[in-house]
Amino acid sequence: MEEKRLLDELVAIDTCVPPGRNYERALKVVGDYLEGAGFQVEYVKTPEEVVREVFGDKLPKDAGERVNLVARVGQGGRTLLLNAHIDTVPPGPGWTRNPFELFEEGGKLYGRGTSDDKGGVVALACAAKRFASKVVNGSLVFTATCDEEVGGRTGLGYLVQKGLRCDDALVADGSIRVAGIAANGCMRFSVKVIGKAAHASRNWLGINAIEKASVVVQALTELNKKLSSRLSSVPADPESGVKFLRPSLTVAMIQGGVKENVVPPECTIIVDRRLIPEENFEEARLEIQTVLEELRKKDAQLKYQLDFEPQNHFSFKIPEDSEIVKLYVKSWEDIGSTPIIAGGLGCVDSCYLAKEHIPVVTCGVSRAGNSVHGADEFVYKEDLEKFSKAVEKLMTLYFA
Ligand SMILES: [Zn+2]
Repeated sequence: MEEKRLLDELVAIDTCVPPGRNYERALKVVGDYLEGAGFQVEYVKTPEEVVREVFGDKLPKDAGERVNLVARVGQGGRTLLLNAHIDTVPPGPGWTRNPFELFEEGGKLYGRGTSDDKGGVVALACAAKRFASKVVNGSLVFTATCDEEVGGRTGLGYLVQKGLRCDDALVADGSIRVAGIAANGCMRFSVKVIGKAAHASRNWLGINAIEKASVVVQALTELNKKLSSRLSSVPADPESGVKFLRPSLTVAMIQGGVKENVVPPECTIIVDRRLIPEENFEEARLEIQTVLEELRKKDAQLKYQLDFEPQNHFSFKIPEDSEIVKLYVKSWEDIGSTPIIAGGLGCVDSCYLAKEHIPVVTCGVSRAGNSVHGADEFVYKEDLEKFSKAVEKLMTLYFA
């Protein structure tokens, strides 16, 4: 099985981010494979200044070059784009086998990235190769991009910024059961509460930043409760456990204090906010600013610095009746199953295409239970094969 052979090679190359290394080596495996089938292959590097603008000084020194694969076949007519990402999250603890060695057992293929998203890369690449000679009256573009797990602005985001366009797209970075038409977006910010240090034996001379921060945490917890009633009109994948996409706010990290006998002069909290397609970044930012301003009005001693990370993955929704959605559903029906039309709670690179009004279906090879981002991640061998077939079928319909 071609998909398994290719996946075996890719899993063995560590493309975990952070830091993000070996991207070109992994992309070469796929590029060489497609070049043999008549694709014109190009490796597009993300310039240093773009990388620095996105990550600042956050990238470790041993991070590698940011590079993306663009492979094209056919010309004229309309263009279909197939995309998946080559980077993975680090393995983390708890693995019972080597995360960088593909291991088959009971119809499952284990290894970091098998579901998210090297499985997506190989399923698309194999379908593209099988179909390459049949691309007439149009163009097929295959891209494998980097840095999706850290926001995608240096991966697919960069290619789109640089002018990559198409008429329709598939992004294989989701569930095999779903034809994804929408996704939530992500916003990150920090609140640094500034107090005043003093000796703990005379604490009335200081301002306790941790105590002040606890009031901020409380207020953000209340905001999260309020958000939980703000439902999207987009149905969610039933496997996610909720009926509709919903926003959320998580106080994810807290750091403060100097020593046991010092009144803490600083305390920083890091917050993750998820936005539904009906929300936008500016409104969400204003909502948070308002919550904090209200606290400051009540407490003149509360001093803080609020910093938002630059936006990367944003929320989006494409029209449900887009032709590509219909074709994707139809291509599965021909195989014998019907995908659910729904939105995803997680962030995806599809947003960069949707922003340019390109109808994009988010699909993929993963399922709930495949331990995506966890220990012993796997993909069902059958899913890999079936998804690849469905994509091939879709191309038959698209280029008919
Ligand atoms: Zn992914």
